[in-house]
Amino acid sequence: MPFLKSTRAVVVDPPALRPQRYFNVVSNAPLASCLLPGYACSRLKKQGLDAGYFDASGERDLDAFENRLLEMKPEEIYVNLLFQWENTGKILESLRKIRASSRARLFLFGYYPTFFKDELLREFPFVDSIIEGDPLGEGSTAGPFPRIKKGECAPMLGSKGCWGNCTFCYAGRFFDGYKGRDARGIVDEMEQRVAEGFKKVYFVDPCFFPPGKQAGIYAAGLAKEIMKRGRRIPFGLECRADSVSPDAIDPLAEAGLTEVFLGVESGAQSALDRFHKRTTVDQNERAIALIQDRRIKLSTGFIMFDPEVTLAELGENLKFLRRNGLVRCATNAAQLLSHKVFLYAGTPMYKRYVQKLNLNGRSPYFIDYPFHDKKIQRIYSTMEVEAQRVFDKFRGMDIDGPVEGSHEKAEELHELFDCLLNEKSPGFEKRTGPQGNPAH
Ligand code: SF4
Repeated sequence: MPFLKSTRAVVVDPPALRPQRYFNVVSNAPLASCLLPGYACSRLKKQGLDAGYFDASGERDLDAFENRLLEMKPEEIYVNLLFQWENTGKILESLRKIRASSRARLFLFGYYPTFFKDELLREFPFVDSIIEGDPLGEGSTAGPFPRIKKGECAPMLGSKGCWGNCTFCYAGRFFDGYKGRDARGIVDEMEQRVAEGFKKVYFVDPCFFPPGKQAGIYAAGLAKEIMKRGRRIPFGLECRADSVSPDAIDPLAEAGLTEVFLGVESGAQSALDRFHKRTTVDQNERAIALIQDRRIKLSTGFIMFDPEVTLAELGENLKFLRRNGLVRCATNAAQLLSHKVFLYAGTPMYKRYVQKLNLNGRSPYFIDYPFHDKKIQRIYSTMEVEAQRVFDKFRGMDIDGPVEGSHEKAEELHELFDCLLNEKSPGFEKRTGPQGNPAH
């Protein structure tokens, strides 16, 4: 499928209408996908094509979205379509109207269209075609650099895809493996972002380092290139626990690394094995300790609940979070203690569940599921509600520093989980009095 051949092509990020209850679900649209439209536009410009980027992700008015897109009089429309639960149909209805009111051909790309291609084409016949996988192919991270929105922090890709094969993820499948990028190109882009006024960079690739010992070699090379140019800029990255070592982290810390999102996933070895994470609890703990020791800001990807989680694993997770100092601020604790993995088409976990429930041929893109154990269901339901309250109260407040009441709330959430699991009454009820609702 040729991508972007027309002289009047528009690459579109449609309105983001994610329902409120799913705002915290990260696995649906890995961050790495956010730069695909920007790369596409830069590539068009380089080819001298009269093409544009219409970022409507902040738009809520679908009529306004349709009118603005039609005013551009495109010949080809390329939509980076995200799954947005029950609101996905609203976007597709808008696209149908646009297609009916213009002569533009309509193409979809991204994770959702890739892994739900046949169903989407069958249900929405006005879609001309779907571009599967990485629409830009090889070398797209090498420049021209993607168009991005102005702001404090510039998103960047240091690599594409992943060399892991976790059962709940499709990053490697979408990008057909892992593709690194050379240090000079990365630092060129960082320099450009500094010149444009950005104050920091965040690498949105899900697996920043190459595998094994190459991680340290890559980090040393990148750090050397940054230091050679003499223009350090704070940056963050996302990686696996088995990539974290002094060789990989220390040179980058010297070159400006200030935050790491670590894909820990679980504190129970049986769950890590079930997820095919190919890491150990010990590796997770060592990675956390090293990052904390270097005073680098740490966030963790953590799957507390999955379709096969056991009570014993929940207990191990709870102890793991405590032991490793991860019960810090309220929003962070709420996320860790309530996160449930959802099943998306394209992941092995989804496939397994579809077979288990005999859903073949009529399975939706996204499957929610009840837990096999009533007690686990009760714990999840309670923690989900409590977490939502915390997000409502502390949203955007306590991520970057201490906020009054945040640590105490994190402790309460942990204690509540412990009490539900071990059938005890929570001590904080006594502290707040008989009428007190500790969750508010
Ligand atoms: S390490 Fe696993 S979860 Fe992370 S990007 Fe790779 S496959 Fe996905």
